[in-house]
Amino acid sequence: MEVDVAVVGAGPAGSTFARIAAQAGLEVVVFDKRKELGNPVRCGEGLGVAEPMREGLELPRYAYSVEIYGAKVVAPNGKEIIMRNENTRGWVLERKYFDKWLGELAVDKGAKIYAYHRVFDAKKEDDGVTLSVMDENDKVSHVKAKLVISAEGMEALTARKLGFPTIHRLYDVDTCYQYEMKPYDHENLIELYFGNKIAPRGYVWVFPKAARKANVGIGIGAHLITGQKRGGLDGATPKVFLDEFIVNNDQLKEASKLLDFGGVISVGAPIDRFVDDRVMVIGTAAKQVDPIHGGGIELAMHAGTLAADAAIKAFEKNDFSKDMLYNGYEKPWRDSRGAELDLRLRLRKALEALSDDDLNYIFEAVSGNELLDVMAGNVAPVVAKVLKGRPSLLKVLGPLVKG
Ligand SMILES: Cc1cc2nc3c(=O)[nH]c(=O)nc-3n(C[C@H](O)[C@H](O)[C@H](O)COP(=O)(O)OP(=O)(O)OC[C@H]3O[C@@H](n4cnc5c(N)ncnc54)[C@H](O)[C@@H]3O)c2cc1C
Repeated sequence: MEVDVAVVGAGPAGSTFARIAAQAGLEVVVFDKRKELGNPVRCGEGLGVAEPMREGLELPRYAYSVEIYGAKVVAPNGKEIIMRNENTRGWVLERKYFDKWLGELAVDKGAKIYAYHRVFDAKKEDDGVTLSVMDENDKVSHVKAKLVISAEGMEALTARKLGFPTIHRLYDVDTCYQYEMKPYDHENLIELYFGNKIAPRGYVWVFPKAARKANVGIGIGAHLITGQKRGGLDGATPKVFLDEFIVNNDQLKEASKLLDFGGVISVGAPIDRFVDDRVMVIGTAAKQVDPIHGGGIELAMHAGTLAADAAIKAFEKNDFSKDMLYNGYEKPWRDSRGAELDLRLRLRKALEALSDDDLNYIFEAVSGNELLDVMAGNVAPVVAKVLKGRPSLLKVLGPLVKG
């Protein structure tokens, strides 16, 4: 098979790319190793208003479970802060249907999606990239594309085969566990629980779902697992921490667990280059994930949009060089999201250096609106306020206001 563009992965990044590129008339094929797009789900399913929605793409009712209006963050000592404004609206999705919907939109625009097709090798030639693909019957075929998009999420095998540095250090990933639980009565807010004893270098999330259900999950620094003793176990898993949280929560300890799964997510910096001749790496495959909360759906859709625009220009000029793709995709991405994610990474590093006592102090000292300011990038006034009351945090918080 010879095609214009081959996309590896039909998640939010790959399907967003495929929809826009196919709409512009490019011949796009998408391979996904899953039998069914979006299934099994490995996600907390929280999503703020993403760019394609701002531009008028309407989320169908079946693709989300509930609308959310903000967040409740909870300190180790139980003090709660509500964060709520016009920017904190969003959804808890039904990702199984959301991902399939995004795939269907791409098909409607002319892309061809092959589920249950695993890409296991990639070789670059002068006039294209050849992917080796195995189908559900273990039959291997070779697909030559003028342009290849790696939208493979955490695994990023194709990108790695094509020379991108996609391997993670343990320090740069959170190891996660999640249950779907019922009954749980909520206030249409996402709930985030912090504390070194609750979730070292991470947090517990309780994301509301319809019919009195909730996604109850945890992410903790993978490098901290080794040597931890917890619940009588050596090398405790995130599940052990999550179970401990649940038995100490008045509502959840009585609830049933309907589903459980584990996963890992990138919480470090994006990879240092997203493009090469004839290749673009987008979404979580490029480690485009928020280092504070591990959210990557919106970033994946944003990268898919920028990369599709770059691909359309590359085909117009018949130029698939890395310079062309850099200027079309990587540069606008770094200009629009680079600084924001860099600040989030510095915030994460500051958070992980705080003791529970420091966290309790900060939760007393700042308001929900001030926390929203921090998340929007306006860090200096809040840091100044905290340092006034607790100057000993200068070393930890100082780097946040540098530059
Ligand atoms: C436990 C957990 C909870 C999370 N919660 C949230 C959340 O609440 N909100 C949020 O925004 N983000 C969350 N994330 C992160 C989010 O799931 C990802 O950032 C997002 O899915 C990235 O989209 P993507 O399209 O880049 O990759 P993915 O959604 O991972 O899609 C990649 C696709 O590529 C396919 N693929 C991989 N390798 C191959 C191959 N070799 N051949 C063919 N197909 C391949 C996969 O099957 C998959 O369908 C969470 C992650 C985890 C692990």
